[in-house]
Amino acid sequence: MAPLLYDDNGRAIKLMMNEGYSCHVCVLRPKSTGMVTLKSANAMVAPEIDFNFFSHPADKQILIDGIKVIRKIFATSAFDEHRGEEMHPGVQAQSDEDIFIKSKELLGTVFHPVGTCKMGNDDNAVVNHQLQVYGIENLRVVDASIMPTLISGNTNAPTMAIAEKAADMILSSAQL
Ligand SMILES: Cc1cc2nc3c(=O)[nH]c(=O)nc-3n(C[C@H](O)[C@H](O)[C@H](O)COP(=O)(O)OP(=O)(O)OC[C@H]3O[C@@H](n4cnc5c(N)ncnc54)[C@H](O)[C@@H]3O)c2cc1C
Repeated sequence: MAPLLYDDNGRAIKLMMNEGYSCHVCVLRPKSTGMVTLKSANAMVAPEIDFNFFSHPADKQILIDGIKVIRKIFATSAFDEHRGEEMHPGVQAQSDEDIFIKSKELLGTVFHPVGTCKMGNDDNAVVNHQLQVYGIENLRVVDASIMPTLISGNTNAPTMAIAEKAADMILSSAQL
């Protein structure tokens, strides 16, 4: 919830000059998963990143339900003296499908992709509990990519915690 008209991670300056308030729905623990694939054997060529958003139907429903909850909250009497016309997704969007289509026009990512080298012991795991890459000696991955699933909070501090822990693991296994 923001006590201003907030969009595009604060870059919508003109919008913010107007009076209003806004609320964002976040699909905090998405079930959809994407993929990073190599496009070339040349390490300098950027990989292909496919977020694959909304490939799992539960994520779509959470977004739609979230918007409906926001509408309920904004319809309460506490907002009577403040309420203007709904700007987005807009009152015309009432069916689940219309809400979803309109919502997608202003979709953002919150910049927390993780898990492309997940830690674990199943077929999709890339590193073990010591962050060592399976099948390759003397190689560890130490970054947000080792998180098995996306966490609910911001990812920066946990990534630093992963790095601190990895430093301890490397030091304790090193022949000093
Ligand atoms: C716009 C934006 C806003 C964000 N806001 C927040 C926030 O408010 N709070 C929060 O907690 N998190 C936030 N995050 C997420 C957070 O920044 C990441 O979760 C975190 O930085 C992940 O750390 P990392 O070490 O995995 O990757 P990175 O921090 O991306 O580190 C990867 C490093 O590898 C280097 N690198 C890449 N390729 C090579 C190569 N070939 N050789 C050598 N080095 C290479 C890069 O230069 C980079 O320094 C934000 C992210 C973005 C993009």
